[in-house]
Parts: sequence; structure tokens; C-alpha cells
Amino acid sequence: MVKVVIVGCGVVGAAIAYELSQVSGLEITVVDQNPPAQGSTGAALGVLVGIISQKTKGRAWELRARSMKRYETLVPEVEALTGERIPYNRQGILNLCFAGENLGVWENLAQIRQAQGWELKLLTTEQVQAQYPQINCDPVIGAVYSPQDRQVDPVKLTLGLIKAAQHRGVNFQFGVTVEPLPVREQSSQNPSLCTSAGTLRTDWVILAAGLGSSSLSPQAPEIRPVLGQAIQVQLAQELGEDLPVITGEDVHIVPLGDQQYWIGATVEFPTPTGEVKADSEKLDGVMAKARAICPGLAQGAILRQWSGLRPRPEGQAAPVIERLSGFSHVLLATGHYRNGVLLAPATAQIVREIVGEGA
Ligand SMILES: Cc1cc2nc3c(=O)[nH]c(=O)nc-3n(C[C@H](O)[C@H](O)[C@H](O)COP(=O)(O)OP(=O)(O)OC[C@H]3O[C@@H](n4cnc5c(N)ncnc54)[C@H](O)[C@@H]3O)c2cc1C
Repeated sequence: MVKVVIVGCGVVGAAIAYELSQVSGLEITVVDQNPPAQGSTGAALGVLVGIISQKTKGRAWELRARSMKRYETLVPEVEALTGERIPYNRQGILNLCFAGENLGVWENLAQIRQAQGWELKLLTTEQVQAQYPQINCDPVIGAVYSPQDRQVDPVKLTLGLIKAAQHRGVNFQFGVTVEPLPVREQSSQNPSLCTSAGTLRTDWVILAAGLGSSSLSPQAPEIRPVLGQAIQVQLAQELGEDLPVITGEDVHIVPLGDQQYWIGATVEFPTPTGEVKADSEKLDGVMAKARAICPGLAQGAILRQWSGLRPRPEGQAAPVIERLSGFSHVLLATGHYRNGVLLAPATAQIVREIVGEGA
């Protein structure tokens, strides 16, 4: 058996564990210093900005297209294996456009997507008003509707992936911290991992430790935190039935059912001294934008308010999916920044292709 150790059990580590569990001949262990989905994943809104993203070619688009395709099979597959429902909004994403925005950019994107086999619909202000009466259309100059984009509950997805992977024999160890790797590859090529629970012998190591990845090796890329704050509100009645995620000016309004909505998220960079602190004014700004889009949100009671840290790689594009420099059997699957939930399935497939080659 080929021993694979995955370090980190956020959405990325869990997706890799599940994907690899389908390859025969692997003995897979996932190690996390915390309970699952407590890092960046625990704060995410799970909006899958795939088809409606402005990425149209190269790796950035290929990863998105791959993930969007895989999500459609992954969610039902995991639900069938676990018997548990994963909240997965299939109503799409509605992106509102405001004065000053160039609608030509969206027309162009819609044409590109059509050629790529995906659909984007451009809506006039009148169409938005007629279809979505809960939206205040005064400042809206049009919208783009993406019926094939999705939103998923990131924590329930991660827990589902873990349970499905466990069914297939993957071993999970929580509360176990992995120590930094040796500076150089050992002659055997098989890196052994020192952990707070002893040494693990491995044939492959996958570093999916998000923000913790940098400190696991001096060769790992520097990954810096970008803070995000979000809020969950409870309304007395739904804003509407079967709503898509409504997006405008980088604010998402995410319908959850039971008259509840997630609203977020702020994007807050560290100060020049490296301090990362939630700024309440930024969250107020997000809430004000959300209420301007859907005035019905103003009546909402705040159920929960939270923040999390997105893992952003310095000096290279997100995400980082490659061999750790100087190591033939250590893979980095990290630095997913704002799109880790979106890109976890594609990341897992790439890792499977690399590890599966030799299995
Ligand atoms: C407010 C907010 C909203 C977001 N919204 C979205 C969204 O709508 N859509 C989207 O796609 N993305 C979104 N994101 C981004 C997304 O959350 C991240 O990109 C994603 O969760 C990264 O997943 P991960 O598994 O790499 O990292 P994490 O979830 O942080 O998991 C890494 C794990 O590694 C473990 N670890 C670290 N070091 C060690 C060690 N030495 N030993 C053992 N374990 C270790 C940690 O305990 C942690 O559990 C959002 C993020 C935030 C903060």
C-alpha cells in the first residue's frame, strides 16, 4: 500500500481525501491540529463564482470549469454515501450591475461562455424588477444571471466528504499537529512526518494546511491572511421563493432557507506591521450595501457574526497546486484565497492525477 498523509482538514484536505479514496492501493491518513472545518472553511459563504467569474482562459478558468462540472456529481455522490443532505443552492447567481459599470464586459463574457458551452443571461433593469421584486432597482443598470453557478454549505460539505472518505477507509486524526518538514528530502524519498502524536511514515505528503502551510517548510510559499467578516440574519418572512445568490458590489446575499440569510464578506488586508484585526466599519459597509440591494434585510435580526482568515499566497497566483520545491513526493495544495470552496474539487482531481500516476 502507498501511504498518503494529508495535512489539514478544511474543505481542500477533505476533498482530496475523498477523491484519493477512490484510487486503489492507497492508505490515506488526514491529520489536523483542530477539529475539521474550523479554519478558513468554517467562515466561508460557499458561493461558487465559477461561470460568472471574469476568468476566461488558462489555468484560472480551467480550474473553475472543472470544479463546476465536478460539483454536480460530487454533492449527490456524497449525499448518497452518507445519507445526509448537503445544502446546495441550484438557483444560480444573480450579479447586479450599477452605474459606472461597463455592461459591454458582461456581453463579451456571455458570448465567451456560450462558446465554452455555458450560459449567462443578461437582464435589463426592467427584467430584474419584474423577476426579483425584493431588489431595489433604483441604482441598478442591469444584471447578469448565471443559472449554472451554485452555492454550497462549506462546513456540511467538508463533514460530508470526511464521512464519505471514512466509509472508504480513510483514517482521520484530529487534534494532532504536524511539525515542519526537514529542510531537504531524505535519501529514501519517503518523507517521514513528525507530529504531536508520533512519527508517520509516508510515501506521499499533501500539504493542505491553508494558512499553516508556510510554517511547514521554508520552501513553501508565504501565505498571508486576508480577513473576512460576515453575518447571518433572521427575517420574519422570506425575501422570495427559490432565490439565487444575489451579488452586487462584491457583497453576497446568500439565501439559506427558514428565512435566514448570510451576508458578506469584507476583504481586509493585514496592516503594514502584519496586524489582522476585524474592522467593524467595514462590516457596517457590507451590511449597508446589502440593505440597499434588498431593503427587506433591514428588518433582520442578527443571529451570528463572525470572521475568518483567507489564505492568500504572496507573489504567486492562487491556488498553489504543485510539488514542494526540492521534494519529489510532497505536494502543496494550498493558498486558495477567496475561492477555496469553489476550487476544492478541481484541486482534489489534480492531486489524484499526480498521486494516482504511481499507484
Ligand atoms: C469570510 C469568508 C468568506 C469566504 N467565502 C468564500 C466563498 O463564498 N467561496 C469560496 O470558494 N471561498 C470562500 N472563502 C475562502 C475559503 O474559505 C478558503 O479559500 C478555503 O476555506 C481554504 O480551505 P483550506 O482547506 O485550504 O484551508 P482551511 O479551511 O483553513 O484548513 C486548513 C487546515 O489546516 C490545519 N493545519 C494548519 N497547520 C497545521 C499543522 N501544522 N498541523 C495540522 N493541521 C494544520 C488547520 O487546523 C485547518 O483546519 C471565504 C473565506 C472567508 C474567510
